[in-house]
Amino acid sequence: MTARTELRRVDLRGSSPSTAELRAVLPRGGVDVNSVLHLVTPVVEAVRERGADAALEYSETFDRVRPDSVRVPAAELAKALDQLDPDVRAALEVSIERSRIVHEDQRRSETVTTVVPGGTVTEKWVPVERVGLYVPGGNAVYPSSVVMNVVPAQVAGVGSLVVASPPQADFGGLPHPTILAAAALLGVDEVWAVGGAQGVALLTYGGVDTDGAALEPVDMITGPGNIYVTAAKRLCRGAVGIDSEAGPTEIAILADHTADPVHVAADLISQAEHDVLAASVLVTTSVALADAVTREVAERTLTTKHSDRVATALAGEQSGIVLVDTVADGIRTVDAYAAEHLEIQTENASEVAGRIRSAGAVFVGPWSPVSLGDYCAGSNHVLPTAGCARHSSGLSVQTFLRGIHIVDYSRDALDGVAKHVVALANAEDLPAHGDAVRVRFESRS
Ligand code: NAD
Repeated sequence: MTARTELRRVDLRGSSPSTAELRAVLPRGGVDVNSVLHLVTPVVEAVRERGADAALEYSETFDRVRPDSVRVPAAELAKALDQLDPDVRAALEVSIERSRIVHEDQRRSETVTTVVPGGTVTEKWVPVERVGLYVPGGNAVYPSSVVMNVVPAQVAGVGSLVVASPPQADFGGLPHPTILAAAALLGVDEVWAVGGAQGVALLTYGGVDTDGAALEPVDMITGPGNIYVTAAKRLCRGAVGIDSEAGPTEIAILADHTADPVHVAADLISQAEHDVLAASVLVTTSVALADAVTREVAERTLTTKHSDRVATALAGEQSGIVLVDTVADGIRTVDAYAAEHLEIQTENASEVAGRIRSAGAVFVGPWSPVSLGDYCAGSNHVLPTAGCARHSSGLSVQTFLRGIHIVDYSRDALDGVAKHVVALANAEDLPAHGDAVRVRFESRS
């Protein structure tokens, strides 16, 4: 069955909404992670207490398959790479190469600041020791997500990486072969066949595999996943670091009369293809463009492969067309929305893009579609959703680094500031803090 689609409209012309009003009226999706916490809590608890045994039981329940072991044998990784379609292998190699170029430029160097003569503060960057990279494998498989997680972690210098992805009943309880092949291509030799909340919990607490080998816990978990994965990340946060809580994917396109409605419609549909909860939003100054995009979307939705999913996503409350008076109003609107992906399809697109303050990633002009960024631009595709781009960034080398301040003051440098330390300590009624400085300068006989 194929469905017709009519994108709903929000007309902001002639109005000057505040940021809060904009956030209230703009189409916005989202999932209520709290609503599944009661389902996920017992899964996390069971895995914390019983490790791999519990995780394998939940795999049997939720993935309808029980892998022979959590850790995927090395021979299976090599076999998956051998059997990988050559076109997909070539594409993954390009994706990895471009991703490495971009992420290598993100490396940070140590900074040494001389605050006063004899008093320095150094900021050094240390990679997280061991990281678990979650690669979804429920409704679709995402070898591109292996690239997007592994490359920045490797460039950051993370010493120990494990990729976890759900076991597939169709592949004998192994993760999907393209996931295994992508891991092998990237030189990752530790892959676990476990997904969902049980996967997140096993990465957090570790356990013992069916052959008695240790499944070592990780220090940090990154990567997107469905509502159960996100709920488990929320529950395990603290015991491990997490990158973010990824919600359903979203695109906003800021376009004027110069935009090609075919491009705009194709890009809105490509995002809607991910998920019935995906959000596709067009913000435009042009009623003619809005009308043409509406027609294009309706026609293309009928023939696209995942027609029903796309139609549901586009007809949902989270998608729509927003009419604004000027490009400047459009910029305020998309900044308030803070999309995971933002395309600029206007006159002087580069200049407009330079004025954007909030978006996970910005795609400039007619030749930079989001699909390019999903796979082969070199940029990272794990990006903040649900308006979190107002305060957070996508995955990068920085995600996997910890900044450590090293404070090194000489006697004279401390002496020079001692009275101020004592004054602030007294103001906070913490006199022992002041004493810790004072005793250093008292003569002891
Ligand atoms: P997933 O791996 O996140 O989840 C599958 C797991 O969910 C299964 O292994 C199972 O254990 C668990 N599960 C399923 N039903 C359950 C239930 N009723 N109770 C408890 N656990 C259950 O794969 P998915 O479902 O395909 O979701 C992937 C998500 O990741 C999608 O929302 C997709 O849009 C998103 N994604 C985002 C990005 C990004 O960069 N932002 C990239 C790729 C995918």
